[in-house]
Order: sequence, then structure tokens, then C-alpha cells
Amino acid sequence: MQRICVFAGSSPGARQEYLQAAQDLGQALVRRGLGIVYGGASVGLMGTLADAALAAGGEVIGVLPHGLFKREVSHDHLTKLYTVGSMHERKALMSDLADGFIALPGGFGTFDELFEITTWAQLGLHSKPIGLLNISGYFTPLLALVTHAQTEGFIRLLHTQLLLCKDTPDELLDAIATITPPAPWSEWLEPPPER
Ligand code: AMP
Repeated sequence: MQRICVFAGSSPGARQEYLQAAQDLGQALVRRGLGIVYGGASVGLMGTLADAALAAGGEVIGVLPHGLFKREVSHDHLTKLYTVGSMHERKALMSDLADGFIALPGGFGTFDELFEITTWAQLGLHSKPIGLLNISGYFTPLLALVTHAQTEGFIRLLHTQLLLCKDTPDELLDAIATITPPAPWSEWLEPPPER
């Protein structure tokens, strides 16, 4: 495992704990020799994550859609910044460059990236681990929604296990390291039972 793609808010969020978590995750990834792939912004939790990892001497690769965000928002000191033509290309490249995925707290952009990459795993398009860093219980309501969707018959029980969830970066990175490779869900690709 060489790089982790991190999805994170372009806002700082309402609690100091979120910024601290972005910093802690950036440093933890560098300590483990893991590079970062992310959205390329200098703002919010994304910027805090990138700054912390760069200050610790890590590799940070950004992927920004051309012209979609104002120039001043992109991070100027990244190891590498890819400019792509669309949001779809961005998600595909971020996915190709990474060996696993972590979501920090964030909004619709973070949810979109998290659920798209989880859907791709469910379909067997990749078997890379996916983790949620559950700072201050931020993802607990999202996990409750996933459990609701499972008990209501829309998500298979095995697929709920695609989302690893831990409270600290080190616990999450340990969990991700032990599940790879091979990811068990790559063998769960039989079609769902007829209803
Ligand atoms: P959100 O959670 O809605 O703040 O969106 C954050 C996610 O969407 C990040 O993981 C990025 O990939 C993408 N994103 C949203 N806003 C920006 C921005 N201003 N610059 C770069 N990427 C962004």
C-alpha cells in the first residue's frame, strides 16, 4: 500500500476536533510512509490535511477539475497537482492513484465521493479498503442510515461491512492495513437473491 485517498470537507466544520483530526490523519499517514491523494484544495479540512502532511515531509497529490474552482482555492505547494476535465474524471483518477480511501468529516462533496467509491466496491470495480474517521461521532448518523437501509432490504449485510469505522487515525490505519490484500468483499459478488 502506497497511497490513501482522503475525502474531506472544504469547510473547517464547527469544532476544533475536526481540524485536529485532519492534522492528526495527515501526520499519521506520513509516519506510515503513505502518500495522500485528495481534492487539491487549500481550504477547510482538505487544506489542513495537506498542510500537516507536507510539513511532515509527506507526498501530497491533488486532483482538481480544470476551471471548476477559483484559482486561489487550489493548494500551491503540493508534491503534484493534476488538472482534469470534469468531476467524473477527478473521481476516477483519485481512485486509480490510491490503494485505499478515508473520509474525514465533510458535506455533500465528501458524501458523494464516499458513496461513489463504496458503490464501486459493491459492484466489484475495486477491492480497496474504505474507512470513516468518526471524529466526535460525526459519521454515527450516516452509519445509522446505512443500517436502516440494510434492515429495510436495500443494502446487503455483507456490503455494510465495506465501511470500516474508527475513532482515531491510528486505529483506522491499522484496520485498513489488516484488511488489505485481499479484501474479502471481492468474493461477495454473487448476485443478490431474488425477492
Ligand atoms: P464538501 O464535503 O461538500 O466540502 O466537499 C469536499 C469534497 O469535494 C472534497 O473531498 C473535494 O474532493 C471536493 N471539493 C469540494 N469543494 C472543493 C474545493 N473548493 N476545492 C477542491 N475540492 C473541493
